[in-house]
Amino acid sequence: YAAKASRVGTTVFDKSYDINSSTNLSMASELKNAIAGNQLIMYVQPKIGIATSKLTSLEALVRWKHPEKGFIFPDQFIPFAEQTGYIQLISQWMLNEAARYSQIWNTMNLHYPIAVNISTRDLIDQELPEKINAIFKTYNIDDSSLSLEITESSIMDDPVRALATLDKLSGMNIKLSIDDFGTGYSSLAYLKRLPVNELKIDKSFILKMEQDESDKKIVQSTIDLGHNLGLKVVAEGIENQVVWDLLRKMGCDSGQGYYMSKPMPASDFVSWINLWDSSSIYKETQLNID
Ligand code: C2E
Ligand code: MG
Ligand code: MG
Ligand code: MG
Repeated sequence: YAAKASRVGTTVFDKSYDINSSTNLSMASELKNAIAGNQLIMYVQPKIGIATSKLTSLEALVRWKHPEKGFIFPDQFIPFAEQTGYIQLISQWMLNEAARYSQIWNTMNLHYPIAVNISTRDLIDQELPEKINAIFKTYNIDDSSLSLEITESSIMDDPVRALATLDKLSGMNIKLSIDDFGTGYSSLAYLKRLPVNELKIDKSFILKMEQDESDKKIVQSTIDLGHNLGLKVVAEGIENQVVWDLLRKMGCDSGQGYYMSKPMPASDFVSWINLWDSSSIYKETQLNID
């Protein structure tokens, strides 16, 4: 391949996504093998309630463990998968994997909803709600076990069809979050009509809010906007205690970030949750509450 799978800057695929180029032809077949051949791994990252420091839910994030190239991060193959349609296979795999873990964790009395990221093609697939319903049945889990994260841009690609799917999903009691909020181009008129439960403030604002006064104002305004619309607000990209404390003062409901936990293989989650109550973040919050 022309570019190697580094974390930033390059992509393992041709930028053009011309499916006839030899690089992309072989990428397409490798991705197909990855999906069928156990090379995908579901990672999870905790969402923590900021007032309580208690775990509220998890986000599922895909990783590709390539036999020769090692770990490939989603930024390196999700755009290609979206262009070529493989994304629907990945989404289906992730939804199944999330449901499978949810069933396992339920037997250990761990009940945390898992949020799966989905893309435009999933959203305009009128059968997505039925597919998710079938997964709930297969794993015998209830409809609060899985939720979905959708970006503004994926909704705005085809708002009419997206809204029809979202209405169906919301009618099934599936919780919906708007991901990367503030970076897309959805209008407030749309936001008002969307049957969503949660706004996730994009990490670009959170990462800079300590230094940049206008980013901080954007974060506060987004928290207030979300609350005024009756939505929960989540901050992604919390990397230190200063930002965590700031967000608590600002009234943000929950947060995700390296400060609390990096994404981990789903198979590590049970050990993580068993240690969380003795973490300094958790203990300090309990002292502040009392
Ligand atoms: P996202 O859904 O907005 O996920 C948040 C990203 O921020 C994740 O990157 C996560 O690892 C990273 N992150 C979390 N906490 C911090 C932090 O404190 N600091 C910094 N700098 N980053 C943090 P990841 O896992 O590489 O995923 C990137 C994007 O790829 C995701 O953004 C999502 O849009 C997409 N993606 C991941 N998995 C899937 C999937 O299964 N399906 C689809 N359609 N897209 C996926
Ligand atoms: Mg997400
Ligand atoms: Mg996000
Ligand atoms: Mg993002």
